[in-house]
Amino acid sequence: MEQRVMEKKDVKSFIAELIKLYPAVYGPVAKGKSVVFDRLKDAGEAKFNYTRSILPPKKYLMPQQECIMKFDMPPSPKAESVVEFEDQVIIGVHPCDIRATKLLDMIMKGGNPDDNYNKRREHTVIIGIDCVPDLYCYCSSVMDLKCTEGFDIFLTDLGDQVLVDVLTEKGKEIISKIETKPASGTHLKKQEELIEAKKKLFTAKFTGPVQLLPLELEGQWEAPVWEDMGKKCLSCGQCVLVCPTCYCFDVADELDLSMKKGDRVRKWDGCQLAGFAYVGSGENFREEPGARVRHRYHRKFKYHVDSHSMTFCTGCGRCWVHCPVDINLVEISNRIFKREAECKA
Ligand code: SF4
Ligand code: SF4
Repeated sequence: MEQRVMEKKDVKSFIAELIKLYPAVYGPVAKGKSVVFDRLKDAGEAKFNYTRSILPPKKYLMPQQECIMKFDMPPSPKAESVVEFEDQVIIGVHPCDIRATKLLDMIMKGGNPDDNYNKRREHTVIIGIDCVPDLYCYCSSVMDLKCTEGFDIFLTDLGDQVLVDVLTEKGKEIISKIETKPASGTHLKKQEELIEAKKKLFTAKFTGPVQLLPLELEGQWEAPVWEDMGKKCLSCGQCVLVCPTCYCFDVADELDLSMKKGDRVRKWDGCQLAGFAYVGSGENFREEPGARVRHRYHRKFKYHVDSHSMTFCTGCGRCWVHCPVDINLVEISNRIFKREAECKA
């Protein structure tokens, strides 16, 4: 990894350069009291001192809704897949969302590659930035705070200067177009100090190591926590729809009014919605909200760890912030740790 520094006052002209170079540049912008990722038309629009965006930048790799195939009906049936992409930069991505993108890359490139996601990903430059946690962030319990992969460029605010970690060839090409200087040992030391200081800011924490959860969950299928959370859960699906690592979708054929042609469309779907597990026979194999909460939790902390050795929660806190009844995976995890400790005592 190449490490350079730029003057903080030059960040705006860096973004302006990106807007000139790329057909689409997305970044965090203010929307009312919230922050959302949106297209940057002007360098001044970017708001870097934010805690979390409503939706993660995942929406530029896997849109909420997209046409994946166009078809003609008989008598001359025809089908053509649709893969839409353009060169794009996503700037201002926090370490938790960078990790989420890395996890999605693994899934989408894996066993059954997803052409639409992968094509967009190939054409995407990710520029990360460091951040300050709030009461709902718990990335320190589920991942390393130092971001070392999954980005092209990573910016750390050092005060009057910005440390620029350049990881990829795409990143090097961009950085070659702007004025930077090689980073010194002092800059790198300051970055380490910032990470150490950040560790002390988290108030939401797991009381046990996340690596132990897959094992601890073995004996917790009937734990009261699932029914307790199920009684509270409204099955609104907000938690899964804002999650940067959820990738479930539904596919439907939408016929044109002429009845001669149509689009095959995929849309985000989520396992906390009551109809998600309905099957053709009319049965719902996760009918109770508690069973759905348990399923979601296992998807984050057990199933993917067993199959890919990766925890699928990055601690971004979105599901917690957006849950209308305050269901959160920190409380569930700590109840799992507590119950397991009591069982062993
Ligand atoms: S489960 Fe919640 S905290 Fe974890 S990555 Fe998804 S939205 Fe973020
Ligand atoms: S956001 Fe909360 S209430 Fe809504 S489905 Fe998720 S856990 Fe249930």
